[in-house]
This record gives sequence, structure tokens and C-alpha cells, in this order.
Amino acid sequence: MTATILDGLALARQVRAQCRPRVEALTASGFRPGLAVILMGDVAASAVYVRNKIRACEDVGIESRVVRLPATTSEDDLVSRIDALNADSGIHGILVQLPLPSHIGIRRVLEAIAVEKDVDGFHLYNVGGLVMGSTVFPPCTPYGVQLLLDSQGIDVEGKNVVIIGASNIVGKPMALLLMQRDATVTVCHAKTRDLAQYTILADILIVAAGRPGLVVAPMVKHGAVVIDVGINRLADGRIAGDVDFDAVKEKASFITPVPGGVGPMTVTMLLVNTIRSAEIALQKANGSSESPPVSVMMPYWQPSVVDAPTTE
Ligand code: NAD
Repeated sequence: MTATILDGLALARQVRAQCRPRVEALTASGFRPGLAVILMGDVAASAVYVRNKIRACEDVGIESRVVRLPATTSEDDLVSRIDALNADSGIHGILVQLPLPSHIGIRRVLEAIAVEKDVDGFHLYNVGGLVMGSTVFPPCTPYGVQLLLDSQGIDVEGKNVVIIGASNIVGKPMALLLMQRDATVTVCHAKTRDLAQYTILADILIVAAGRPGLVVAPMVKHGAVVIDVGINRLADGRIAGDVDFDAVKEKASFITPVPGGVGPMTVTMLLVNTIRSAEIALQKANGSSESPPVSVMMPYWQPSVVDAPTTE
């Protein structure tokens, strides 16, 4: 068996095509979506990620603003900058690029972002919403993975899903999204003993460890769906995931490439969340009651993506 490639670039193009008319409609109503990205310090990878996010905003017509702060900025100053963006009606999404320098308390910073502008979905309020089964802003990477699965009609209900990686931004929220859809979820991490005994049972294997070559073919069940979230820069400069793609694709039914799999979806779901935030702001301005949270069982963008695929 050779796996079908889950093409994140193609799906991201479809979702972005649906973003543009929404941005146009919002802009015509005086609510052009605005995203502010705070970039602190000079981590090269962070600068690349921020550039990609800004380009993605431009691609669909979202206004973007980068707030660059020196690595020596104090936590209080950083929070003041966030407060100013919270009060700025032209900004609907605020994102603090991680990681932050070690003198900054990450929780205080993430909690400083207004809940209604928390388009990364990392504020405790939105994390709590995820735990309870509904959230306005699903975290972008798990949201993108969910859409990749949906786009191929891969139903997770009752499936054994194994996630490698238990971080707050990928592994844990991914598990919560999938549990809402009645998957049987196992979360493995660096302290898990004998990883392969879990992975071999996975109908769907999601790998987000940041360890190139971690998942090799003997660890994968025949016909499994394999989602590789990892992004690793190899010594020769190439980008690779956590999965031995060439060998595993001969065993899996579906597999994401790196690059071109989950990465483009992550950035695109940030756009989706920012547009959603602007739509809620417009609804509030029009006096309509606050729109209900997105059910993670029926994600905001799912139906039209699945019903109306384009050949773009
Ligand atoms: P992290 O370092 O915060 O967490 C890594 C997790 O993997 C931890 O739970 C750790 O215990 C686990 N882990 C590490 N080594 C392991 C091993 N040998 N066996 C089992 N588990 C192990 O990382 P993160 O922020 O969650 O990111 C993980 C990877 O995903 C990184 O490569 C990152 O660059 C990538 N990432 C990609 C996207 C995307 O859009 N594609 C988004 C976010 C993160």
C-alpha cells in the first residue's frame, strides 16, 4: 500500500479562498480583520514564522501589524503593549510568538490577551472551553489537523488515536478535540516507556515531538493515518518531520508530508480564527447577541471545505 498524501498546501488554498470573501464583507462593513503579532527577541525561527503569518494575512486581505520588541523588554512592558492592543478596535487577533525569553512569565502574558482576541486559543478561558467541548478559537495546529482529517472524510469516532507529544500547544489540545469526537485517545511523551507498543495500535497516529526520525515503519500499523506535525531543521539545512516519511508511506493509508502538510494549515487556521473574531466584533457592534462558541464537534470551517472541494 502506498499512502494518499494529505496535501496541506492544497487544503490551505481552499480554506483561504473561502476566507477572502469574508474579509471583503467585513472590510465593507468597516471591520477589516486585523491581526497583531508580537515578536520579542531575535530567534531566527520565530522571525520566519512571523513572516509567514504576515504573508498569509496579506494573501487574504487581513490587516497585520508586527510589534517587534527587544529581548530585554520587561514583562510589565510586554503586558502594557498587549493592553494597548486589547483596547485597539482595529485589532481582532493578538498573537505572542513563542518561545519568549526566560525572564518572561508565559502564563501572565497569555492571560493578558483579551479572551475575544485570543486567536491562538492559549488563554485559560479558551483552553477551558476546549475542555468543556466548545471553544471560540480552537488552537491553530490541532484545528488544522482536524480539518485535514475532515477533508478526506476520515472519521475519528471509535478509532484508536495515538498522539506523540503532550505540549500545551499541540498534543494536549489535539487530544481534547479528538475526545470531543469520541476517539479513543492515548497521549505519549518523552517519559513513555516502549513507544512502539502504543503506536502499533493506532488507527490514527499524530506525531508532534520535534524528534526527526522518531517514528519508523515497524511502529506503524498497516493502513494507519499518519499525521506528522514535527518541523525539524536537519544538519544539511533540510526541513524534516518526526516520521520516516519514505518508509511509512508504504504502510500508511494517509500521510502528511513535511513540509506541505500540517504547517500551511496551522497558519491558515490563524486566519480563520482572526476572521471569526472580527465577525463576532461586527455582530456585537450591530447589537446582536454574542454568537455561540464553535462546537469542536462541528468546526466552523468544516462543511464547505468538505462539500465544495476545488481543484485549485
Ligand atoms: P514541545 O517541545 O513543547 O513538546 C514536545 C513533546 O514531545 C513533549 O510532550 C515531549 O515529552 C514529547 N517528546 C519529546 N521527545 C520524545 C520522544 N523521544 N518520544 C516521545 N515523546 C517525546 O514541542 P511542540 O511545541 O509541541 O512542537 C512539537 C513539534 O511540532 C516541533 O517539531 C515543532 O516545531 C512542531 N510544530 C509544528 C507546527 C506546525 O504547524 N506544523 C506547529 C507547532 C509545532
